[in-house]
Amino acid sequence: MGSKTAYESFYQNLKEVPCGFCGNNFLRTNPNRRHCSDICRFSEKVDKSSTSPCWIWLGTKNSKGYGSFRVGKKNLKAYRFSYQHYIADIPEGMMVLHSCDNPSCVNPKHLRVGTAQDNADDMTSRNRQAVKEKNARWNPNSTQHKLNPNSYFYDPS
Ligand SMILES: [Zn+2]
Ligand SMILES: [Zn+2]
Repeated sequence: MGSKTAYESFYQNLKEVPCGFCGNNFLRTNPNRRHCSDICRFSEKVDKSSTSPCWIWLGTKNSKGYGSFRVGKKNLKAYRFSYQHYIADIPEGMMVLHSCDNPSCVNPKHLRVGTAQDNADDMTSRNRQAVKEKNARWNPNSTQHKLNPNSYFYDPS
């Protein structure tokens, strides 16, 4: 037997195999392919089992917690892929924002498009909220101020 030509090995690899996610048979053109579609490949990396309504991305994440997902030669943000797949194309120049404030979430229900300005506004209100919470924690007169009963500082009198 001589060595196989590329043509021969292509046809040898061409097989009907079940998708690793949905189980439907698909025609595999590459032996490394385990899924029938990008969305099956995507879904396998999403954890929906948590009690939180967020869908947590289990694939590669950047330092800020935003997931990335490779499609062809492009490295997409996982939540942008989710938005495009489940909702609609993202208009030119628009950003996809998280209403749940969880960077690794890819639940399309928690995503919406907005401008860079919307994003900045979101951040401002979040920062304001964070400052408020911080003040609440340190302001002894605040009604939101609750000390842990196990704390050394706790004095119920
Ligand atoms: Zn599939
Ligand atoms: Zn979420």
